[in-house]
Amino acid sequence: MSRAAPTLLLVTASSPGIQRVRRSRVLNFQQITMPYLAAFVPPHWTVLHVDEAVEPINLETPVDLVGITFHTPSASHVYALADRFRQRGTTVALGGPHVTLMPDEAQAHADVIFIGEAETHWPEFLAGFEAGQHRRRYCSAEPPGLAHAPMSRKDLFHRRDHTAGVLFATRGCAHRCDFCTVAVMYRSHPRQRPVADVAREYASFRGKVIILWDDNIAGDLEYARELFRALAPHRKWWSSQASIHAAGDDEFLELAARSGCKQLFIGLESISQASMNEVSKGFNRVDEYARAIERIHSHGIAVQAGIVFGFDHDTPAVFEETLDFLEAAAVQNATFNILTPFPGTRLHERLAAEGRILTRDWTKYNGRTDVVFQPRRMSPEALLAGYQYANRRFYSCASIYKRLSRSPVGLFWTLPLNLAYTLSLRYRQ
Ligand code: SF4
Repeated sequence: MSRAAPTLLLVTASSPGIQRVRRSRVLNFQQITMPYLAAFVPPHWTVLHVDEAVEPINLETPVDLVGITFHTPSASHVYALADRFRQRGTTVALGGPHVTLMPDEAQAHADVIFIGEAETHWPEFLAGFEAGQHRRRYCSAEPPGLAHAPMSRKDLFHRRDHTAGVLFATRGCAHRCDFCTVAVMYRSHPRQRPVADVAREYASFRGKVIILWDDNIAGDLEYARELFRALAPHRKWWSSQASIHAAGDDEFLELAARSGCKQLFIGLESISQASMNEVSKGFNRVDEYARAIERIHSHGIAVQAGIVFGFDHDTPAVFEETLDFLEAAAVQNATFNILTPFPGTRLHERLAAEGRILTRDWTKYNGRTDVVFQPRRMSPEALLAGYQYANRRFYSCASIYKRLSRSPVGLFWTLPLNLAYTLSLRYRQ
């Protein structure tokens, strides 16, 4: 069977439940998986993109093929959606983190699934689909190289927040922290795009604030330094995620700052060294956190701390102690999460073997509203209450004053973000 000018609907899925959880998110920048995959689609195809975070899906839209990417908390929503499209005779392809973690579960709701990074087999699948013959399962045996990675299709970006553009320079991370889905999805195989390509895409965004959507921009310090030199002339501001290693390299920090870095999201996770050791993240040296934050600040870069509660060494005292530390270190922003053992991770395996998984209702695997496992040294209720206390305290006016009044980083960047978080938390309650 051959089809004339097929129409493809790409969906960045977000269930109503996850949208409620994320209503308080101040940063709502574009997820680029689908605009990126669209760049591989042959030009004679018509490509539509629905991003459920900002618009509903119209099931009546006449399309030949639907491709959906999703994370674990949206899984049941996506399966219902996929079932309805298939009942209408539309071919459904599923991919993304949850499919890689739970391929057999996803396969029951799809004509085709992609395990791992879809771009490896995506063009081959599209050609097969047009010819009326494709496989039911594509698995990327080797993580794809990024030497010829195209620019994402900006015409398919739909989210609007304070950022002007989103792109990635690197993908993956060499570490294998037990709780991390990045480690499973990319099999601890980091790769980099050519610096010139990244700089060209970076420059192509008209606005000032750019998100480098990397798992760990400090994964290869030499590459990062070269990248920052190439970004600097464009005089934009950017933010990205980095492991704590970023703080150990002054040249990295200096070049980052000169190229417009205003904030780094650093996965501190816990102020307990035992907890870090327990989840294979012992390279985070807790006794060096304060100094590391100071060094980042000394370059005029704000720190957004990623904090997780619920490790086996956490007692009910962890919440207050963590907040005391973040305030003393004048950390500008923080993202708190309840430890969540995503399926397919080593953490999930261990907790399952210990009989401590309380539910496999994936809608609860969002790190914000539910505790899905039995914590070792407190009740699930105490963990949830402690997480809520941390958010309330960190984004209270008293804490904002305490942290930002000593912040060496410009208030123009840090204060609006803090106030926006405060307002959104109030709105949610
Ligand atoms: S350093 Fe960060 S991105 Fe890398 S495996 Fe650990 S948690 Fe995941």
